[in-house]
Amino acid sequence: MLNKINGLHHVTSLASGARSNNAFFTNTLGLRRVKKTVNFDAPDVYHLYYGDETGTPGTVMTYFPFPNAGRGRKGVGEVATTAFSVPKGTLDAWQNRLAEHGVTHLTRGSRFGESVLAFDGPDGDGFALVEVDGDARAPWTGGGVSEDMAIRGFYSASMRLAENGASAELLNFMGYEEAGRDGNVTRFAIANGNGADLVDIETYAGANYAAQGAGSVHHLAFSVENRARQLEVREALVDTGYQVTPVIDRDYFWAIYFRMPGGVLFEVATNEPGFDRDEDTAHLGEDLKLPSQHVHLRDQLERYLEPLEA
Ligand code: ZN
Repeated sequence: MLNKINGLHHVTSLASGARSNNAFFTNTLGLRRVKKTVNFDAPDVYHLYYGDETGTPGTVMTYFPFPNAGRGRKGVGEVATTAFSVPKGTLDAWQNRLAEHGVTHLTRGSRFGESVLAFDGPDGDGFALVEVDGDARAPWTGGGVSEDMAIRGFYSASMRLAENGASAELLNFMGYEEAGRDGNVTRFAIANGNGADLVDIETYAGANYAAQGAGSVHHLAFSVENRARQLEVREALVDTGYQVTPVIDRDYFWAIYFRMPGGVLFEVATNEPGFDRDEDTAHLGEDLKLPSQHVHLRDQLERYLEPLEA
């Protein structure tokens, strides 16, 4: 079993509009935009990152907004719900806030005995807030949500899968241990994690596979401390038979990718160098940052990309 992974790093999804996506995460959820860059493989599309003050691994939701992209079709083989941690006793206030901001499909419930408020993102993305006692992570409070209720970071990612065998084995191999069952949901937890310590598997035997589109999670990234740990993880996965990409430089972290048995694309990303490598912490996310291979496109990209603020 690996002991190098320390929880979620980021979750990356697809959106249909950059401005509505930016408004939802900054104004409605009160996260900080910590980076405004472009998709390294398709530089005419933004890559937007939202998180805590510095984009600490375990807090970072990222998006590729493809203008006018069609919605994804929900099914198995994808992340169903990305859940954020909020303080105990705040879900009533959150429900009011989200309703005032026009958020749809607000649903109160409970999972593993915890109070959950589920809701849709701008493209029907599956999100939830979970009341957590004593989450010590410092929230971003510059986004208009007060410290006593602001999001602390990710709580969990819940995958919708056709099976709970090979995928559970992989999570075990990555250092996660089964932490309980609730209906068709099996919970996995990692010890000594960064706070974003939980992954759930929801099993739906015989269900149709998801088709990716706006509102779908593109991949789920797990955190490792540094490049040395990442190479150890890569070697262990390859030895186990996984086809893993070479290490790819994403400017703010180093990434490797592989497809897990249930169909979800997994990434293992380093905590180094972080989002402040090319901007002061005070101004994170303000300027359009381009990777070196696309710097020559700046003039045309600045004309083409939709302004984020009205
Ligand atoms: Zn990623």
